Amino acid sequence: MDRRVISAEKIRTANRQLEGATAQEILRWAVQQFHPHLTMATAFGAEGCCLIQMLAEIEPGVRVFNLDTGYQFAETLELRERLQQRYGIEVELLRPELTVAEYEARHGGPLYRTDPGQCCHDRKVVPLRRALAGYDAWVSAIRRDQTADRALAEVVQADGKFGLVKVNPLLNWTRRDVWRFLAAHDVPYNPLHDRGFPSIGCWPCTRAVAAGADERAGRWAGTDRKECGLHVIERPG
Ligand code: SF4
Repeated sequence: MDRRVISAEKIRTANRQLEGATAQEILRWAVQQFHPHLTMATAFGAEGCCLIQMLAEIEPGVRVFNLDTGYQFAETLELRERLQQRYGIEVELLRPELTVAEYEARHGGPLYRTDPGQCCHDRKVVPLRRALAGYDAWVSAIRRDQTADRALAEVVQADGKFGLVKVNPLLNWTRRDVWRFLAAHDVPYNPLHDRGFPSIGCWPCTRAVAAGADERAGRWAGTDRKECGLHVIERPG
């Protein structure tokens, strides 16, 4: 099957064309351009659940996967089952080479306590790199208003770290847009959101936060870390 390569100029044109487009229009564009070499990673956050609902309507054949670090909450894995049943799709679980027990034995204990950067690299970034091999584009659920780095992202961008195109259909959405969409379409979501977790990752590195706190304040709380290395935004020169 021919792979679709998209130049920097085409990316600029696509961003101009998609200015003001809805999330569904952006996803449709991505499907037309790249399917079957389009894939989507999800950690089953509220935004990812919106995209799964949209993809199920637009092109349920797009491969969706989850990076199953071995440290996900039980609620997150249960949500995967609910979404699969509801939308009749499969969300693949992609695991690192070593189980949690093997990994912790190799490092003399949980690395998330002493070196979360390495832990995220081994259990998220490396499996993601493997998962994206052979694909031309991936869909992510990032929003511009989540972090200062994400504010610099484009709807369509070259992802230099992983060597393909990244499409961000929800980039211009707000948190309120996400929750409106979930309610309007009765989309299943993680019950932890109702217990003070606005952003949900691995259980050792995620805390509940007070109402009104920064959405990502509960991720790697007490450190400067705000990303796991999957979403690297290249700052303009
Ligand atoms: S979020 Fe925490 S437990 Fe999960 S991979 Fe990163 S450091 Fe490890």
